[in-house]
Amino acid sequence: MRYNFLRFPNGKTKALTLSYDDGCRQDLRFSDIVTKYGLKCTFNLTSAEACGNRALSVDEVKEHFLDRGHEIAVHGYFHRAEGRIRPIEGIIDVLDCRRELEGKYDRIVRGMAYPDSGITAWASTTSFERVRSYLKDLGIVYSRTLGGDNDRFELPTDWYAWMPSAHHDNPKLDEYIEKFLSRDLNTGYCASRSPWLFYIWGHSFEFDNKEGGWDHAEDFCKKLSGREDVWYATNIEIYDYVQAYNSLIFRADNSAVYNPSLLTVWFDIDGTLYSVAPGQTLKLNK
Ligand SMILES: [Zn+2]
Repeated sequence: MRYNFLRFPNGKTKALTLSYDDGCRQDLRFSDIVTKYGLKCTFNLTSAEACGNRALSVDEVKEHFLDRGHEIAVHGYFHRAEGRIRPIEGIIDVLDCRRELEGKYDRIVRGMAYPDSGITAWASTTSFERVRSYLKDLGIVYSRTLGGDNDRFELPTDWYAWMPSAHHDNPKLDEYIEKFLSRDLNTGYCASRSPWLFYIWGHSFEFDNKEGGWDHAEDFCKKLSGREDVWYATNIEIYDYVQAYNSLIFRADNSAVYNPSLLTVWFDIDGTLYSVAPGQTLKLNK
């Protein structure tokens, strides 16, 4: 039986990503923790107008997020749930947020997390198909949803309904971490060696609201840090890498592969690890 499995950069079998919402002031402290442990986070920001006097300054965002390799992503100019509003209102909320972030931070912003109830509750004036369609037109390439915690660690099948593994307050978080870290994905049944992605989300102000909240943040970041087989990446880095993998072009008999992307791509075929450089055509064992 011959299967081809994505491997993350440098052949790693697993990836970890974090996603934190609202651009609250506690994000600065959370960034200190995740950066200390070598983790990567996507911070989903609303507009300065929506945040009022709680807004993070441009310098704070640059220093604590961007200069440390974290991602900033769209979270709605006024934090409006796409499922609850008419398409034109959703379009304005997403586009205004994207334009503000790109202008303030002088970069291309393509990621998003749905604000509020997002795509989990619907008014009769819209649908998921319409939301997904306008997000594509607005240049958004993925959007995170919520509410389906699980320990399957799968890559998303629909990037516009990217379901995280768990909220950080999920009572099973430690169990999920143990399962994620202990599994060797290069052994076991040959058809079940898919890469694993652990995706944790939340709001950093929640660490303030609970007794021992910040100890919990420190604890789960520490447990997940420093693993040889884990790639620590932002949401957009994972998206871009998976796109590069999906763009690989194989000969019909699988005897060679061409990489048309700008990233070195890694994959495993029947226990053999390959990497193919940008623009390279690589012969494969048969
Ligand atoms: Zn939010």
